[in-house]
Amino acid sequence: MHHNKGFGTRAIHAGQEPDPTTGAIMTPVYQTSTYVQESPGVIKDDYDYARSANPTRKALEANLASLEGGRYGLCFGSGLAALAACIHLLQSGDHVILCDDVYGGTYRSFDKVFKQFGITYDRVDMTDLNALEAAFTAKTRMVWLETPTNPLLKIIDIRAVASLAKSKGAIVAVDNTFASPALQNPLSFGADIVLHSCTKYIGGHSDVIGGALIVNDDGIAQRLKFTQNAVGAIMAPWDSFLLLRSTKTLHVRVQRHCENAARIADYLAAQPQVAAVIYPGREDHPHHAVAKKQMHGGYGGMITATLKGGLPAARTFLERVKLFSLAESLGGVESLIEHPAIMTHASIDKHLREAIGIGDGLVRFSVGIEDVEDLIEDIAEALAAI
Ligand SMILES: *Cc1c(COP(=O)(O)O)cnc(C)c1O
Repeated sequence: MHHNKGFGTRAIHAGQEPDPTTGAIMTPVYQTSTYVQESPGVIKDDYDYARSANPTRKALEANLASLEGGRYGLCFGSGLAALAACIHLLQSGDHVILCDDVYGGTYRSFDKVFKQFGITYDRVDMTDLNALEAAFTAKTRMVWLETPTNPLLKIIDIRAVASLAKSKGAIVAVDNTFASPALQNPLSFGADIVLHSCTKYIGGHSDVIGGALIVNDDGIAQRLKFTQNAVGAIMAPWDSFLLLRSTKTLHVRVQRHCENAARIADYLAAQPQVAAVIYPGREDHPHHAVAKKQMHGGYGGMITATLKGGLPAARTFLERVKLFSLAESLGGVESLIEHPAIMTHASIDKHLREAIGIGDGLVRFSVGIEDVEDLIEDIAEALAAI
């Protein structure tokens, strides 16, 4: 139902029928661990135990599947739990190719957790398809990418990567957290798996940790569903309820995030204290053409900028902003700002970090949906203090 409707309509209605017992318009929080059976093994739908199925979670799973244009959605306790479920598709000896400035926690999982189980990885700059092609080995089973990347906001051509990976027999997983389903739908470009950290734009209010996978293929869906239950890192009913509340406004929030970020990116680019601004919506972004092709409705709420004067300048700026809160995370209605080298990307070795361009003058903005004039005034005052 609703599959042929527009994004905003699906955001509000997909997966959510009035509650069958009362007609409640909002999906209730089914806070239960088990379900009563009429006779041994006679259960309603697949409701035998709430790790395997919960109606609140199921509504969110159907909602997110619809927003990504996928057939199956699966929700987990965090984005990293969703990542771990994907890795259960692999076995010891398999090789994975990661994009080079992947989310720090994703990198840590591959480097410190999955490696122990014999799953190896290489990192490549996937904006360079020759480099990607050269990274495949006979054991490569999965290609893992984010676009826009974190924190350098590189844009990877999903369609090109997916077609190359397919020719090599590898599964393509796209972490779509930064774009959100409102701006980019990787399944439509040939990706096999879409991951979201629901903690970010999908939640949008900085009050839930959650993760989701969306897929089209029956076989992959079945194996992920098995892992979701067998390994057990499920999303709780209350968090599912909060996220159903959030997705109803996703399109409206993301539209404002994009408008504000575009204004602020242009403002930053004109300031003498700023050495460089990275925003995929700007024509001076090296991959703007790819962004224009695969994103729709805007270029997101994330901006990265390098301040002249390195760490001392960045430190002063980050201490002086008032409306932008200095914090990790992103995608909430309130504006956040952070220093990747010291904060989100500290788990990456310094030489590696600098080699990929995460220097000490780099700051990352998660532009919220406040009044943009107030945000610009806040930035202006902090820049003046440098
Ligand atoms: C936050 C984030 C994750 C991890 O999600 P959690 O919900 O924090 O586990 C993965 N990928 C990206 C791009 C993220 O921003």
